[in-house]
Amino acid sequence: MIGKTGPTELIRDANEHLMSKAQESTKHHDCLLGMDQPITRRDFLNAGLLGVGATLLHPSAPIQLIGKEDPWDGYGAVGDYANSSGNTQEVIRVGHEIRNGRYDHLPPNALDTGESFDLVVIGGGMSGLGAAYYFKKAKKPSWKCLILENHPIFGGESKRNEFLVNGQRLIGPQGANEFDIPAKPGEQGYELYAELALPREFEYSRLDPKFGKLQFDRTNYGFQLWVDEAGSFGTFFSQGSHGVKPQWVRDLWGKRLKEAPFSERIKQDFLTWKYGRKRYYDREDFEHWLDTMTYKHYLEKVMGLSFEVTRYVDPVLAAAVGLGSDAISAYTAFQVAMPGFQGFSTDPYYAPKWEDLSLFTWHSFPGGNDGFARFLLKTLIPGAIEGAATFADTLNGRVNFKALDQPENDICMRVGATAVRVEHERLPEKSEHVWITYVKDRQVYRLKARGVVMAGCRKTIAMLIASSSILQCWW
Ligand SMILES: Cc1cc2nc3c(=O)[nH]c(=O)nc-3n(C[C@H](O)[C@H](O)[C@H](O)COP(=O)(O)OP(=O)(O)OC[C@H]3O[C@@H](n4cnc5c(N)ncnc54)[C@H](O)[C@@H]3O)c2cc1C
Repeated sequence: MIGKTGPTELIRDANEHLMSKAQESTKHHDCLLGMDQPITRRDFLNAGLLGVGATLLHPSAPIQLIGKEDPWDGYGAVGDYANSSGNTQEVIRVGHEIRNGRYDHLPPNALDTGESFDLVVIGGGMSGLGAAYYFKKAKKPSWKCLILENHPIFGGESKRNEFLVNGQRLIGPQGANEFDIPAKPGEQGYELYAELALPREFEYSRLDPKFGKLQFDRTNYGFQLWVDEAGSFGTFFSQGSHGVKPQWVRDLWGKRLKEAPFSERIKQDFLTWKYGRKRYYDREDFEHWLDTMTYKHYLEKVMGLSFEVTRYVDPVLAAAVGLGSDAISAYTAFQVAMPGFQGFSTDPYYAPKWEDLSLFTWHSFPGGNDGFARFLLKTLIPGAIEGAATFADTLNGRVNFKALDQPENDICMRVGATAVRVEHERLPEKSEHVWITYVKDRQVYRLKARGVVMAGCRKTIAMLIASSSILQCWW
């Protein structure tokens, strides 16, 4: 997508290297993948990319590649997102303080910044950036907005990570990554897509013909489950995990596991999970029933499948929803189209064979939906991302952190700032302002706003509403 160093070439190089490395001893391979390293809670989102990155360099563990030793911070990589992989220790520390009631009353050391905004948006993810965008479109010239974001950088779930591998800059998404281009006026998102001047066509770099018909999914995760019957999709079986000579199996699911080095019993379990049509609950309120148990319980206790299936499922789910099968309900798994629920559907099972992936209408920017966050930010604060307002510059430009929070901006963003209290100045009907209290660099501040948008997703916002005297937001 971005010329010679586009993702296709990067993946191709990485894949080539992976394949050759796979012939080496299992121990060496496991080391390359960092299997000998303790895994921190933030590793899983980046594990795929780092696994690839790790094979391209000689040090044995990904964490060594980037010289980060703090077990909490995990991989940090390089660039503007290096300190913002998942939640940071400071985000969690302040979040726990809210939970523990530290801000149920205004702390006496809270400093009044003296600022007053027309709107304060809490949360710098897609929702918060979107709220600020529509505020900017509708506002009077003098009106000002402040976005408070508790992480070191904007984007929320739509952030990227960047890695330098042999001088090559690899970019991968932390979370949200796939999108479809809204096709016609009236379709959700069509106008916004046009207003942000996002391209409607993308030119992908071409794969070297020596790879024959090998194709790549344009998203970062389609092959993991939803589009896994494809000739270009290979599954690697290592000696460490499967006790077999390390080997690749092409089109594992399309060939119904025929070449998989599994026992017949395990194969049968996987096929039951993926293609079985048995209905495990007869009543109509099956959705509610699915919501009473974890997906792990449903697979192992209701369907009676072996834990190998759960082990396969967990990283797929982690990439899709951020949690494993022991933490999400069977109903959530049903909602994100995980297998095991065909008995509840009247549609005949349809397994498309993906021969030509170029026909897909979905796309991913190299860093996933961070592309949208960056386009929104560039529109809100033009100097926030270096370069022109072009596709390439908006995606590749460095973030100018100084430009985010300047008094002359009509839209400001304050990063590393957790809102901890939101309250009317007096009774709501008599209030002209809301007080917003936030913590930045361990100091408590407060400022005023005529209106507030709570766009922090579900993270601290529920606690904030519970602990603050906010009754309504207005603008
Ligand atoms: C693993 C995963 C994969 C996904 N894949 C896709 C996909 O492929 N395509 C797609 O379209 N969608 C996808 N989604 C959904 C998409 O990520 C979300 O719908 C979207 O990013 C949500 O944006 P948001 O702004 O509402 O919340 P968030 O992105 O969570 O942003 C909220 C921000 O507010 C901050 N915040 C919270 N509380 C406070 C506070 N008190 N003070 C200051 N800041 C605060 C948060 O830290 C965060 O940065 C995926 C989601 C996940 C979890």
